[in-house]
Amino acid sequence: MRKPLVAGNWKMNKTVEQARLLVAEMLPGLQAEPSVERVLCPPFSALMALAAQLTGTGIGLGAQNMYWEASGAYTGEVAPAMVKEFCEYVILGHSERRTYFGETDATVNRKVKAALANQLIPIVCIGETLAENEAGKTADVVIRQVLEGLKELSEEQARKIVIAYEPIWAIGTGRAATATGANAVLSEYIRPALISLFGKDVAEGTRILYGGSVTGSNAAEFFGQPDIDGALVGGASLKPADFIKIVQAAVK
Ligand code: PEP
Repeated sequence: MRKPLVAGNWKMNKTVEQARLLVAEMLPGLQAEPSVERVLCPPFSALMALAAQLTGTGIGLGAQNMYWEASGAYTGEVAPAMVKEFCEYVILGHSERRTYFGETDATVNRKVKAALANQLIPIVCIGETLAENEAGKTADVVIRQVLEGLKELSEEQARKIVIAYEPIWAIGTGRAATATGANAVLSEYIRPALISLFGKDVAEGTRILYGGSVTGSNAAEFFGQPDIDGALVGGASLKPADFIKIVQAAVK
């Protein structure tokens, strides 16, 4: 049984005070659904405050990125152990990181290894662009992202990973994939790629989320699909009623 997981990616939004208020508003609704793993990923600047606010609530905390080196002269970067001080999860390889900050499958792979070495659960984002989708390259792209991004991991490490399939054309556009279309990418390309790397047992246990314009209105359709184990939510994770509705929809 794969426990459903819903993670909110707040992106570059909310000061500490705004973050505290947002959490206070959504906390009762989130706490009411303990059968779903619920994770909030605010900006780095709010992690310390939210770690204190979320202590003992059952709600997990995640970072949106990190660097792979342990320490040193890397101005502006945050090390895995620094993330681990506050978080259990870290989003890696988000398409916005790949597009605006030059991340590649190779850098994602280094980050995944560093996260696991520091007992962080990586939420590894993959997904094709609109042009790739229209050119019929979705399979090639997502399979490559899995094989390269997750290479050289042990089976034991692989068991901890969460994957988020986020077609780039669906992120922040209001144009979500169809639930059956997203499920097909998971079942036909992503899980078989995981099987080829880690074997059937690990791959069957790996949670795969869908992300891309998930809302309170369309979430249930996605979660009704056999391979979709939850969602990585951007815009709607900043709206308490919507985010709570998504979490409720993930209850099995
Ligand atoms: C995301 O940024 O991971 C995302 C899925 O965004 P949105 O839900 O706004 O499409």
